[in-house]
Amino acid sequence: MTTPPPVPAPVDRAPVDSAREREVVAAVPTGLLLGGRWRDADGGGVLAVDDPSTGATIAEVADASPADALDALDAVLDAQAGWAATAPRERGEVLRRAFELTVERAEDLALIMTLEMGKPLAESRGEVAYGAEFLRWFSEEAVRTYGRWSTAPDGGSRLLTMKQPVGPCLAITPWNFPLAMATRKIGPALAAGCTMILKPAAQTPLSALAFAEILREAGLPDGVLAVLPTSDAGALVEPLLADARLRKVTFTGSTGVGKRLVAQAADNLQRVSMELGGNAPFLVFADADLDAAVDGAVLAKMRNIGEACTAANRFLVHEDVAQDFARRLAERLAAMPVGRGTEPGVQVGPLITRQARDGVHALVTDAVEGGATLLTGGHHVEGPGAFYAPTVLTGVHAGARLRHEEIFGPVAPVTTFSDDAEAVSLANATEYGLVSYVFTQDLSRALRTAEQLASGMVALNRGVVSNPAAPFGGVKASGFGREGGAEGIEEYLDTKYVGIQL
Ligand code: NAP
Repeated sequence: MTTPPPVPAPVDRAPVDSAREREVVAAVPTGLLLGGRWRDADGGGVLAVDDPSTGATIAEVADASPADALDALDAVLDAQAGWAATAPRERGEVLRRAFELTVERAEDLALIMTLEMGKPLAESRGEVAYGAEFLRWFSEEAVRTYGRWSTAPDGGSRLLTMKQPVGPCLAITPWNFPLAMATRKIGPALAAGCTMILKPAAQTPLSALAFAEILREAGLPDGVLAVLPTSDAGALVEPLLADARLRKVTFTGSTGVGKRLVAQAADNLQRVSMELGGNAPFLVFADADLDAAVDGAVLAKMRNIGEACTAANRFLVHEDVAQDFARRLAERLAAMPVGRGTEPGVQVGPLITRQARDGVHALVTDAVEGGATLLTGGHHVEGPGAFYAPTVLTGVHAGARLRHEEIFGPVAPVTTFSDDAEAVSLANATEYGLVSYVFTQDLSRALRTAEQLASGMVALNRGVVSNPAAPFGGVKASGFGREGGAEGIEEYLDTKYVGIQL
C-alpha cells in the first residue's frame, strides 16, 4: 500500500477535548536527546511551544546551547563507527519498526502536530502517513546500496567502487512539515549508516521529540541520533559547521538561510543538501480538463494552508478559460471552513504566526493597489490565532510582489497567457525552480512543456507531486540534492574506488 500524501479533506469526527490535548502533549519528552538519553539543556534554558490557533503556550522544551551542540557531536561521533558497521538489514529493521510504531501512534502524532503547527487534523494525519512512508522506503533501501566491478578500458587493471556512509550529519528542518521533513532526512541517513544531529524548527519541536522516542523504542542504538531544539539556531549550528568532524549538513528551509549554511559549510567542505523555497507556477492550458484543474489547484494551493514549498504560487491560465477557472477556484476556496485544526470540518488552519499572516496580507495589498481584483478573501479572520481568509486575485500585474516572492499562505493569484511559449516563459520567470504544475489533455504539449520547465519536479494533471518513492528537490534558488526515491540514500553515501592490479 502506498499512503497518499497529505491533502485537505473534511474531518467528520468529534472535536478533540482539552484533556486529551494536554495528555498527548504531556507524553512528549521535553529534554534534549543526546547519547541515548533525555537530558536538560546546559544552563537549564527552556523554549516555549505555542499553539498558533490560540497563541497559548502548550509546552516547554529544553533549549539547546552551543555547548550542547558540541556534546551532541561527540556523541554521534562515538556512535558513528558502530552504526556504519551494523548490518544493513539490521539498520533497515530499526527503520521498519519505527515505521510501524509511527503508524500505530498516528493519532497522537497528528494531534501533537496540529497543536504546535496549526494544520487541520486531517492534514496532520496525512503528514504522519507520508512521513512514515520515508521510514518504510528507506528500511527497504538500506540493503540496496551497490558498488561496481569493471575492467579498465586498457585492460591493465580492475576498478572496484564501493559506497560508504558520509559520516556524522546535521539535519535542520522547518516548521511547516515538522515530522515528514525529519523522517525524509533521518530515514536515508540511518539506512546509509550515518549518525545524525537533528535541529528541528523552534516553533515545532514536539513532533521531532515524539518521533525520536519512537526511534529509541524501535531499537536505535544510543548516540546514533541527537535531537536539539533551540531558540538560537545560528549560535547552535555555527560550532558544528566549524568542526570538520561533522561531514554533512542537510537543510530544508528558506533560500536565505540555505545560502548562509552553504557558505559556512565551505570552510570544511562538508557535503550539503539544500531543499529551499519555491515559487511554483500552475499552468492551465485551454485544452485542460477544467474540473481536474480546479481540483488540482485547490490541493496545490491549500495543502498545509498554503505554507508549503510546493504550494502553487502563480496560476497561469490560458486566456480562453481563465475567467471560468478563477471563478470556480474562488467558489471552492470561499467554501473552505477556517478555524482551529482540531475542530471537525475545518480545512484551513491558522498561519504559523501573526507576523507571517501580516506578511501574506502585505503581498495581497500590494497586488490590489497595483490594480488586481479580489474574487474572494483578502482579509484576516478575527480571533486569537493568525487566521487568513482563502483569497483569489485576478489581473495581478507583472511587477506585483506575489508573482516573485513565495506567498506561504492561502492566496491564489491568477494571470493569463495566450500561447504555449508565453506560458513557459512566464513559468520560468523566477529565481526558484522547485515544482511546476501542468494541466493539459494533449500528451505532446504535456511532455514538451515538462521538458521546458526549469524546475526539479513537474506535476502533470495532478495537484500533488510529493512521493517517498520519487526524488524530491529543486534547481536554481530552490537548492540541490534529492530526498526520497533511489536518489535519496545517495546523499548520505560517498563513493570509494579501489584500483586493482591483477
Ligand atoms: P527558515 O527560517 O529558513 O528555517 C528553517 C530552519 O532553519 C529552522 O529550523 C530554523 O530554525 C533554521 N535556521 C534559521 N536560521 C538559521 C541559521 N542562521 N543557521 C542555522 N539554522 C537556521 O525557514 P522557515 O520559515 O522555517 O520555513 C519555510 C521555508 O522552508 C520556505 O521558504 C519553504 O519553501 C521552505 N521549505 C522547503 C521545502 C523543500 O523541500 N524544498 C520544504 C518545506 C519548506 P528556527 O526555527 O529556530 O528559526
